[in-house]
Amino acid sequence: MRAVVIGTGPAGITAAETLRREDPTGSVVALSTDPHAPYSPASMADHFLTGRDETLYWKGEDVAQRLGIEERRETVVVGVDVDNDEVVLRDGNRIPYEGLVIASGSRLHAPLEGADLPGVLDFKSLRMAEELVGRVHRGEAHTALIVGNGFIGVELSLLLADLGVDVTIIGRRPWVMPRVLEPAISALAEEGLINRGVKLRLGVEASAFVGAPSVNAVRLADGQLLDADLIIAATGVKPHVEYLIDSPITTDWGVWVDDRLSTSVPGIVAAGDVAETADWLSGKRFVHAIFPNAVTQGRIAASNLLGADLTYEGAESMNSLKHLGIPIVAMGTTEDPDDVLHWVSESARRSVYLRNGKIIGAQLAGDIRAAGVYRSLMLRRADVTSFGRGLVEPAFDFASVYWDALASVSA
Ligand SMILES: Cc1cc2nc3c(=O)[nH]c(=O)nc-3n(C[C@H](O)[C@H](O)[C@H](O)COP(=O)(O)OP(=O)(O)OC[C@H]3O[C@@H](n4cnc5c(N)ncnc54)[C@H](O)[C@@H]3O)c2cc1C
Repeated sequence: MRAVVIGTGPAGITAAETLRREDPTGSVVALSTDPHAPYSPASMADHFLTGRDETLYWKGEDVAQRLGIEERRETVVVGVDVDNDEVVLRDGNRIPYEGLVIASGSRLHAPLEGADLPGVLDFKSLRMAEELVGRVHRGEAHTALIVGNGFIGVELSLLLADLGVDVTIIGRRPWVMPRVLEPAISALAEEGLINRGVKLRLGVEASAFVGAPSVNAVRLADGQLLDADLIIAATGVKPHVEYLIDSPITTDWGVWVDDRLSTSVPGIVAAGDVAETADWLSGKRFVHAIFPNAVTQGRIAASNLLGADLTYEGAESMNSLKHLGIPIVAMGTTEDPDDVLHWVSESARRSVYLRNGKIIGAQLAGDIRAAGVYRSLMLRRADVTSFGRGLVEPAFDFASVYWDALASVSA
C-alpha cells in the first residue's frame, strides 16, 4: 500500500512504523509541520532540564532512514481531496495515497482576546519551546506569566522556575490541574510548586492578552494589568482539524472515529490527539490527549488500514507529575462515584473512586507504588468490593490481591 501519514508525533510515527513493519513492500510518506525529527512533546520539559535527547527523540533521530519512511518536514497539509485520494499541501503540491492516517495532533486552544498577538508563546511544540527557552538563555527574559493552571502550565512553570525565571501561574479555577486532580491532591501539588518558587494566582480570570505591536501584558477580568517578559498561553488544547473542515471526513471537536479508528471515509483512519474516540470508561466520545493513547491508537489504526480488524477498547485518562518534589498520579475519573476511599499520612495521600464496586478513578500523591495495580483493576473492571477499606491502605497486598481481583473480572 502507498500510505501517507499526516503527523510524526507519537501517533503518526507509531503508525508509520507499523505500516513499514506489517507491509514491507509498501511505501510510507510521513508529513510534519515541524523542522525536527519525530519527537515526544511529553519529554520537552525533561529535555530542557537535563539536556537529554533520548526521551525527546524517543524513536531515535534517524527513525525515518532506519525504517525506510519518506519523512517530509516543514510540510503543511491544507486539505484532503477524498475524490482523488490526494493530500493537498500549502505549496500547491499534492501527494496521492491508497491509505491515509490522520495524526495531526492538537494545537493551543486559547479562546481569549489578543491570543493571536505576536509574542504570545505556548509550550505545545518543540519549535515554540526552543523559542521560549532560548529567550531565557540569552538573558532576555527574567519574568513569566502563564495563563492556565492545567497540566502543561504546571509543567512549564517548573521548567522556567528551574531556569531561574520569576514565574506566575494565573488560573481561573481555584486549584491547579482542576480537570484531573481532586482539591486535596492539588493542594500538595501547589505546595510543591510554591517550594520551587512558582507563584500562584488562582481563582483569577484573565480576560485578554494586550500590547502593541506585540504582547506585553495580561489583563485580568477586574481590569488589572500584569506584565512580564514572557507571556504564555496554556489555556488548553484543541485537535488539529481545521484543514479537514471542507472535506467529507466527519469532525466535531476532533476527527470522528469508530471502534476500529476508521473515519467516516473508507481508507482513512485517525489516531492520537486529533481523534475523538470513545472514553474507555463511559463510552462517550472524548479526546484524552496523552502519549499512551496516541501510541496505541497509531498502532491499531495502521494495522486496520492494512486490513486487520482490531478493536480499540477506548481511551483512558492518566496523568503523572514527576518534577514537583512529590510524585503524583491521577487516573480515570472523579465524576459520579458512589463511594470514595481515602488514606492519608503525613507524606502521602491516596483516593480511590468507586462505582458499583469497581474502580473508576484513583489519585495518589507521595507514595504512588499502588498506581499500576489500581490501573489494572480499573481497566479490567474488577469487582473490588471484597477488599473494603483495605484497598487504600499501605498494607494492601499488591501481588495476591491483584491476582485474586483478576480472577473476579466481570464483563
Ligand atoms: C508540554 C507537554 C507535556 C506533556 N506531558 C505528557 C505526559 O507527561 N504524559 C502523557 O501521556 N502525555 C503528555 N503530553 C501529551 C502528549 O505529548 C500528546 O498526547 C501526544 O504528543 C499526542 O501525539 P500525537 O501524535 O497525536 O500529536 P502531536 O504530538 O501533537 O503531533 C502532531 C503532528 O502532526 C503534525 N501536523 C499537525 N498539523 C499538520 C498539518 N496541517 N500538516 C502536516 N503535519 C501536521 C505536527 O507537525 C506533528 O508532527 C504532553 C504534551 C505537552 C505539550
